[in-house]
Amino acid sequence: MSLLSVIVPCYNEEENVPYFYEEFLKNKDFFDKEGIDFEIIYVDDGSKDNTASKVKELRTKDERVRLLSFSRNFGKEAAMYAGLRKSKGDYVAIMDADLQDPPSLIPEMFEYIKEGYDSVATRRVSRKGEPLIRSFFARRFYKFMKKVSKTEIVDGARDFRLMSRVMVDAVLELTEYNRFTKGIFGWVGFETKWVEFENVERVKGETKWSFWGLCKYSIEGITAFSTAPLNFASIMGVIFCVLAFLLIIFTIIRKVIFGDPTSGWPSLVCIISLISGVQLLCLGIMGQYLSRTYLEVKNRPIYIIKEEL
Ligand code: UDP
Ligand code: MG
Repeated sequence: MSLLSVIVPCYNEEENVPYFYEEFLKNKDFFDKEGIDFEIIYVDDGSKDNTASKVKELRTKDERVRLLSFSRNFGKEAAMYAGLRKSKGDYVAIMDADLQDPPSLIPEMFEYIKEGYDSVATRRVSRKGEPLIRSFFARRFYKFMKKVSKTEIVDGARDFRLMSRVMVDAVLELTEYNRFTKGIFGWVGFETKWVEFENVERVKGETKWSFWGLCKYSIEGITAFSTAPLNFASIMGVIFCVLAFLLIIFTIIRKVIFGDPTSGWPSLVCIISLISGVQLLCLGIMGQYLSRTYLEVKNRPIYIIKEEL
């Protein structure tokens, strides 16, 4: 028998907890046939509703259901990390509670694992049902990442993945505080098979991601997997130094030929405001990296567990 650990990060998902369990168990025949045992680790990420008690209810019926409860909301990244840490399986899958990651894909994913892949990842080929503006910026983000990062971050990739133990252990080696799991999976390497599926809308409840939340998450991704913006700051610095030097020469020559010291106030204002804008932008970029370095250096735990069953 081999063991499959399924990690389900939950934040206010009381309605989805039992529903997920039911849907997941539809694979029972497949598991029996293949000799796979499973454990479902619900990670209650500081939910304010009855998520934890729903999980406990399930656990009274089925011992294979486990619960990890955080002391507060630490975010999905922390929940996934905690789940990986606590998983015991030879294979580990991460799945959303809202059934946007169809459990019906698992048998197919196992086929690829049997073929020898270390991980089987999923990506949605459509973004049906998502606000247009969100899709637009999501696409821009992946295009940008492709340009600035050496790590492969696939457009439409979900966190839904089936991994072998070796890969999970590799992911756990990366203990950074500011986690961007989509990048981490790419970074650790291993042979990955991509399975595609049409976007599924969440069954119950609503998304935890606001547009602003996603913006911040994308900055997380960029700073975690690329230092290109820092290079941008240096390049801008060089360009403006050269420009300033040329301007100085131009001004001196003009003074010598025309002797006109007072005009040019408007152009001066433009130059000063442009350069100070670029300076602030570059300082901001540095600040983004510095703040993350600061958080890493503090070395705080990624999550705190209140209860474990
Ligand atoms: N989630 C979490 N902590 C958070 C936010 C979300 O554990 O702070 C979980 C959530 O319960 C769900 C999964 O992460 O199981 C994906 O969240 P959601 O469905 O809101 O995101 P979307 O699918 O809209 O990208
Ligand atoms: Mg969802």
